[in-house]
Amino acid sequence: MQWSEKLALVVGMVVFMECFAWATHKYVMHGWGWGWHRSHHEPHSGAFEKNDLYAVTFAVIVIGLFVAGVRWEPLWWAALGITVYGGIYALVHDIMVHQRFGTRWVPRRGYTKRLLQAHRLHHAVKGKEDGVSFGFLIAPDPVKLKRKLAERVRK
Ligand SMILES: [Zn+2]
Ligand SMILES: [Zn+2]
Repeated sequence: MQWSEKLALVVGMVVFMECFAWATHKYVMHGWGWGWHRSHHEPHSGAFEKNDLYAVTFAVIVIGLFVAGVRWEPLWWAALGITVYGGIYALVHDIMVHQRFGTRWVPRRGYTKRLLQAHRLHHAVKGKEDGVSFGFLIAPDPVKLKRKLAERVRK
C-alpha cells in the first residue's frame, strides 16, 4: 500500500467513526442500550460508570481488527483510524467536557467551545428520550440546539 492510501484510510475512518458514533449514540445508547448509557446521564461518585463498558466493547473489536489486519493490511490501517478517533473522543469527551481525572480545561472561544456547549446541551436532557446533539466532533450551533430544547419543553 502507498502512503497516500494509508493516510486516506485513517482519515476516512475518523470521519466514518463520527457518523457511526452519532448513529450508535442516538439509536443504540439511547435505545436498547440505555441500560449501560444511563449511568453517563446521571450523577455518580465513582471513577467509572457502566457507560465505560461501551469503550471496552469497542476496544475489544478494534483489537480484533488489528489482529485480522496482520493478514490484510487495509484492515490494519482502518483499525488505526478507529483508534485515532477513540483517542480524540477520550481526550475531548472524557477529559475536556466531563473533566474526568480532575482536569480543568475550559475553552473560551472557537470550535472547542462550541463542541463543549453542544455536548453539555446533550446532557441537559437527563432521560433516554428527546435528547439533542448526538454527534460529537461535528458540533451543531448551540443557539439552534437551545431553541430545539425549548420547543420540546413547550410540547
Ligand atoms: Zn447520551
Ligand atoms: Zn457526555
